Amino acid sequence: MGGSALTGRSVAVCVYCASIEGIAPHYLELAAEVGRQIASRRWELVSGGGRAAMMGAIGAAARAGGARSTGVIPRALVDLEWADHDSDELLLVDTMRERKALMEAHADAFLALPGGIGTCEEFFEVWTAGYLRMHAKPVVLLDPDGHYTGLLDWVRGLGERGFVRPEALARLVVVTDVAAALDACASPVDMSPSQS
Ligand code: AMP
Repeated sequence: MGGSALTGRSVAVCVYCASIEGIAPHYLELAAEVGRQIASRRWELVSGGGRAAMMGAIGAAARAGGARSTGVIPRALVDLEWADHDSDELLLVDTMRERKALMEAHADAFLALPGGIGTCEEFFEVWTAGYLRMHAKPVVLLDPDGHYTGLLDWVRGLGERGFVRPEALARLVVVTDVAAALDACASPVDMSPSQS
């Protein structure tokens, strides 16, 4: 077991990110940097178990740095997303729901990087569950280049119009750099009763 600078404990970080080819190279570099920093903290990576695009970059970088990686992939996506057979543990499941449940069960924290609709789907589920107090794990969005600005503006606007509770907005940590994202993954979540 290794160590967060903040807590000294190892953290299994579930990372959601793009698995589509053809995106700008700096996103792959961002994913690789997250993988390297997970490894340098002697943490673990939990991912969707593919080798494509950012998902592949983070897994390869994490393992190159010595991190353990666990991937969870539906059998139907083994070829489509190029199952990451180099994972220390590759769990094959039947459905997307099983995939998300197993990823969640293996994780101490959730970190979303730039991605598409699949990433958003996974991210919104853990964020919603977090604000509903179904889990006490950090939910972090790493957005160095404004990839999610439109989405965040929209959600904050929903908050202003009363559709999203302040505690839901507070439950999400949004950061722009990798070290801050991982620090947030190791920070305890305030589960004290809400005042609102
Ligand atoms: P994308 O952000 O669209 O590139 O998708 C990122 C990852 O999310 C891919 O590995 C998808 O297979 C995965 N994904 C998409 N929808 C779901 C879902 N409902 N449950 C679990 N994983 C999903």
